[in-house]
Amino acid sequence: MRKIPKEQIDILVDLQAIEVEGIRVKSVLKGIEGKTKALDKQLKRAENAVIKESEELEALKKAYRDSESDVKDNVALIERNRDKMKAVKTNKEYQALLKGIDEMKERNSEIEERMLEQLEAIDAKESQVEKLREELETLKANVEAEKKGILKEEADGRKILSEIDGKVNKVAEAIDPRLMNLYSRVRARIKDVAIAPVRDCVCTGCNMNIPPQMFNELQQVEGVEICPHCQRMIYWEKPE
Ligand SMILES: [Zn+2]
Repeated sequence: MRKIPKEQIDILVDLQAIEVEGIRVKSVLKGIEGKTKALDKQLKRAENAVIKESEELEALKKAYRDSESDVKDNVALIERNRDKMKAVKTNKEYQALLKGIDEMKERNSEIEERMLEQLEAIDAKESQVEKLREELETLKANVEAEKKGILKEEADGRKILSEIDGKVNKVAEAIDPRLMNLYSRVRARIKDVAIAPVRDCVCTGCNMNIPPQMFNELQQVEGVEICPHCQRMIYWEKPE
């Protein structure tokens, strides 16, 4: 049984409360990091969607231009055939040129029909790209606003954390070095609450009963013990 003045235990409990607050703030800061990453990811996804759809739009426009130039080429060929027709000697040659012109005309009307479909597809894709662009702009504005809030939250958290560090150092100075040493060792092992009060023979760190004799001693002598179940530092807290 280590006899420790009650004030020392109280200071240690205060120290622990400050440290627990520090752990909470640190986890908030970690959450902030995740939030920022998620926002960036969302933005990147929206940007990629605009890029992908824009590329598809360009491909559609190119196909339309190709059709246009095919039609132009065919019209030129028809003109050439017409010129040739003026100079042909035989009916057979004339008929062959005429047949060529008909075929070209037929091909052009097929291409023009396809061009109508291409125009429709271009229109649809253009409005889709436009819609995605608008969504991206809205998202950008939202992300920017959210990030501003996050930055503030982060700055607040860092400030609290540095204040906590200052407090920890100050409070730690007031604690008996041997007690502090024990606390630090338990804390390194337990990683969360290192000192817990005992109420009605129960360690509040692990909610298990401590041996009655240990409980009696804790009540009779001010001091700390190590819980045989969870290895936390325990002390008796007088019922109010
Ligand atoms: Zn315990």
